[in-house]
Order: sequence, then structure tokens, then C-alpha cells
Amino acid sequence: MRGTVLYGTGDIRFEDTPEPKITKPTDAIIRLAATCVCGSDLWSYRGISPVNQPTPMGHEYCGIVEEVGSGVKTVKPGQFVIGSFFASDNTCPHCNFGYQSSCQQREFVGGAQAPLLRVPLAEGTLVPTPGVPAKEMIPNLLAASDVLGTGWFAADAANVRPGMTVAVVGDGAVGLLAVLSARQMGAERIIAMSRHEKRQKLALEFGATDIVTERGDEGVVRIKDLTKGLGADAVLECVGTQESMMQAIRSTRPGGYVSYVGVPHGVELRGDELFFSHVHLHGGPAPVRRFLPKLIDLVWTEKIHPGKVFDLALPLDQVAEGYRAMDERRAIKAILQP
Ligand SMILES: [Zn+2]
Repeated sequence: MRGTVLYGTGDIRFEDTPEPKITKPTDAIIRLAATCVCGSDLWSYRGISPVNQPTPMGHEYCGIVEEVGSGVKTVKPGQFVIGSFFASDNTCPHCNFGYQSSCQQREFVGGAQAPLLRVPLAEGTLVPTPGVPAKEMIPNLLAASDVLGTGWFAADAANVRPGMTVAVVGDGAVGLLAVLSARQMGAERIIAMSRHEKRQKLALEFGATDIVTERGDEGVVRIKDLTKGLGADAVLECVGTQESMMQAIRSTRPGGYVSYVGVPHGVELRGDELFFSHVHLHGGPAPVRRFLPKLIDLVWTEKIHPGKVFDLALPLDQVAEGYRAMDERRAIKAILQP
């Protein structure tokens, strides 16, 4: 088959790669209905995270189970399934607490920008949909694999409750879906921070009530202005830079909640500022598996349409253009059709 491999900064290739095989009895092979390029793929593509060897790319996936290992009973060939970027057994203590992305057996799932994918710990990782979806529903289901699951965790980790004022830092696909998630959880006011017209529009469609275009300390001042000088009840940090993290902490009222789901790059927190901020901090790699049954239900019953974040659709063999378009911020998120 042909799959996507990153060789170094800006060097993404679609080339002959070995077909994945069952290597453990707990594995499944799935045939992808669609896959996509993640904002976190761009860290390696831009050379900010080093690429030491040719690396198969892609960790967002949904599709039909093609084959299962001898130990897999509850997932069956022919089922349409969704999984997330960390495979998990869904039975260990961390999984039972709802932190499947810290599973004692966790394994990163890579190589999904390809027609076929091996998923370890298939029974714990994969969640079947109620049936084989219509073609139009596939982008919405694919979004649940990572961006929606991560945006949902951002809202969950920031303790979003009905009536709250929520601010979202970051207007990438995760930030936009964090807006949608906060809306679903009943936030009354949702302030989206974006200076990009197309993204502002989508944020409003997903439930944002206010748009703030200022960044950094000016952004903090605007949030304070909008909240009677208090700060927001919850701030969802969906970028991962020093500026975005400090903006999130400083925009939160004392006693409020900051979640952080952007992979941090060069973020350092000062103990004294943290001490006097009086905020709750919670984040990390989203335990998407915890949310998948709920998210699949919301998509299946057409209560949400998270696939709207895909504003560029390409055949899989044009994956390099997907990376370029996202790198240059011409596209919010590229969906790839094998
Ligand atoms: Zn586990």
C-alpha cells in the first residue's frame, strides 16, 4: 500500500509502505473511511519537534474492521469503529478513573494517514458506531477521534457547567470544538479568541457569544472588561505556547478553572504567579476514549456537526498539500480520503 511518511522539516511523502499486519492477538486492522492532518502533526512538520527517522504519520481514524487478532471478541470484522490516538485496555485502574490516555498499557497509534491501520488493544480502544454511517456523516465521526474528543476534554477538565462564562484560547480545530463542547455543557457565555474571520464565523456557529481579537496581555484586559473585571469562570487553553498559557491563567477569576490541551512547547510556569492566581489547572493528552460513546451518540443523532472544521478535502495521495495548507493557515483542517 502507500502511506504518509515524514522525513524531516517540510518533507512529507506519500510512498510505498508495508501493509500493517496483526502482530498481537489483541490487535485489529481497520480500513480507513477517512483520516486527517492534526495540528500536532505540524510541530514535527515545522521542525519544532525533531524527526530523527522517517516516521509514518497520522493518528485520527475511523473505518471498517478488516481483521482481528485471536484474542479480540467484542470487535468484529465489518463493524464501523472509531478509536483515538492512544490505544488503551480500558480495564486498568487509570482507565477506570477515566484517564485512558494514561493507560498502564497505552500505546501511541501512528500511521493512520494510510488506507489500512493496525490498532493495538482493539477491544479497549475501538468503539463501534450503531451501524455503517452514511458518507456525509463520516467527517463528523472522524472528528470524534481526536479534535472533538480533545475539545470536549478541554471543557470537561475546566469544569464547564450551565451558566458559566467560558473563554477559549486558540482558534484551531480543537479550540473551535472546545467552543462547541462548552455550548453542549451549558455555558452561558463563550468568548472565542480569534483574529481570523473564517474561524470567528465557525466559532459563532458552534456557540460562541463573543469574539476577542486581542492576544497576550491585551487579550487578558479584554476578557476582564467583558467579565466586570473578574475574569472568566473557565478558560480553555488549546494552543500550547507560553503566551497562550499565561493568557489563559491571567484571564481566569480566582477559584476558576484552566484546562490545557495544546501540546506544550517551551511553556514554563512561575511558582509565585501560579500561587497567587488561585486557579485550578488540569489538562494533558485527552482521554478521548472516555468520551467516545457520548460523542458518537451526539453525532449519530445529528445534535452536533463537528466535521464542519474540515474546510479542505483531499484525496489521500495529496496529503502533502494538506500539510502545506494547514501550515500556512489556509485551511483549518484537512480531511483525507483514501
Ligand atoms: Zn488501561
